[in-house]
Amino acid sequence: MNNDIITGNSSFIEMFEKSGALLKGHFELSSGKHSGRYLQCALVLQYPEYARSMCKELASKFSDIEVDVVLGPALGGVVVSYETANAIGVRSIFCERKAGRMLLRRGFNISKGERVLIVEDVVTTGGSIIEAADLVRKEGGVICGYGMIVDRTGGSVELEPRKESLLRADFLTYNPDSCPLCEKRFVVDKPGSRR
Ligand SMILES: [Zn+2]
Repeated sequence: MNNDIITGNSSFIEMFEKSGALLKGHFELSSGKHSGRYLQCALVLQYPEYARSMCKELASKFSDIEVDVVLGPALGGVVVSYETANAIGVRSIFCERKAGRMLLRRGFNISKGERVLIVEDVVTTGGSIIEAADLVRKEGGVICGYGMIVDRTGGSVELEPRKESLLRADFLTYNPDSCPLCEKRFVVDKPGSRR
């Protein structure tokens, strides 16, 4: 587990550690792979002062461009969107999945030509934000960037015109049949379904 890497502003890493959002153990990820580390962003975002501080920094990374609205995919993107929009001084909306489709509900809308900043807590495969981006284009909005608290893509997801993150996490993951943690018989934890 010494090869696990998380990089970025040390005060933000400290917020993750203090709130127990950076877990060590033996985890089964939603991909089915195993990892010795797990990030539970909701645990750090439960503290408004941490959420505000991180999203203020995220917003500042886009201070050179014009943003009309911030959009986050539910659930992970909701708090990040709200606090980032608060820092920029624009409105915050979220999209959500219904019957497998990403939608704008609750009367939220994007006007033609509106410049949309898409944000998320943790991006691994990019699935949710790519679906959110398709939705923005369909509504006639213009995507001006993607912001995330933690980038776990390992550079594997291209996001144009730009992508900004606060932290980068490159945790080792293993196939269950060749997982060294399984060999040590540590108990597997599924963090998403905890308690
Ligand atoms: Zn394992």
